[in-house]
Amino acid sequence: MGEFELIRQYFMPLARLHGSSSVIVGPGDDCAVQRVPPGSDLVFSIDTLVEGVHFPVGYRPDYLGWRTLAVAASDLAAMGAEPSCFTLALTLPEADELWLRDFSLGLGNAAESFGLTLAGGDTTRGPLTLSVQVHGVVEQGGAIRRSGARAGDLVVVSGSLGDAGAALDYLPAQEDLDADDSAAADKQFVLERYHHPQPRLDLGKALRQFATAAIDVSDGLLADLNHILEASNVGASIELARIPVSPALVRLKGSAATDYALHSGDDYELCATISEASWVGAPAWLKQQLTVVGEIEPVSGLRLDGSAVVSGSEATGFDHFRRKA
Ligand code: ADP
Ligand code: MG
Repeated sequence: MGEFELIRQYFMPLARLHGSSSVIVGPGDDCAVQRVPPGSDLVFSIDTLVEGVHFPVGYRPDYLGWRTLAVAASDLAAMGAEPSCFTLALTLPEADELWLRDFSLGLGNAAESFGLTLAGGDTTRGPLTLSVQVHGVVEQGGAIRRSGARAGDLVVVSGSLGDAGAALDYLPAQEDLDADDSAAADKQFVLERYHHPQPRLDLGKALRQFATAAIDVSDGLLADLNHILEASNVGASIELARIPVSPALVRLKGSAATDYALHSGDDYELCATISEASWVGAPAWLKQQLTVVGEIEPVSGLRLDGSAVVSGSEATGFDHFRRKA
């Protein structure tokens, strides 16, 4: 199967998902053309996933298709952007049709679910690597930045944290999950959070009116909140008992559940800062999706239950280029 046949068969269908799309020239020309509504800013971000680094070797292609787009779309959610389209740079060791069929299925489901239409891409041969650039739009000046947190703001997070990180403990043996294992359902639950992250796109858009800063939690709460603190030149105090963890994670990991929430990534929830006044005035449906975990303070650094356990950029998240001690 040639490169163009491959694109036509597996990827062109994803370019036709949305009738009302802002993409006026899709795959097939030298560039894609997106029409940005007057008064909007274009918000875009690129993410690369390398086999053996960001996902296990031999990872299920339909899961991979979903994950690839979900992690990219999560950055749009963090900025409060309305998703519009994406491009896909695909590097494949070979044109395996079964793999391509399943991959494009997972990718297509995600595209449909997030409202992202495929605008173009690039296809090359080499070690399995996926790059996705996502585009979104916001009202001019409306993107939520990392730099807007102010002393006195509340720190909030969506959903529950730590599940996807815990899933890594069960990933290698997933095929052998024993139905008799009373923890099997809990393991399935956290594995599902890893395989099918749900970028908080609607929540991100809603937060535009309320949040002073936001980030998506891809590397663990400590590391990601720390990015907000550094960009905003502030500090924060977090109460460990308030960090939302799922009942499944608590059953699996006991008192270590909070450590997963703090240090492990892949949840793709949102962490935001909101002024006390905005929080008081926020509608109940918004508050229901968020948990207050702490407060922004003028003194830099991050304090957990009062003790400064993290300083500066040493917060323990995943960093490809940091040397192990
Ligand atoms: P060029 O050489 O002009 O860069 P390419 O030969 O790389 O163009 O691609 C031809 C067309 O196919 C382009 O419109 C490109 O966007 C599209 N395309 C290539 N790979 C993919 C892919 N994996 N998914 C979607 N569109 C793709
Ligand atoms: Mg060209």
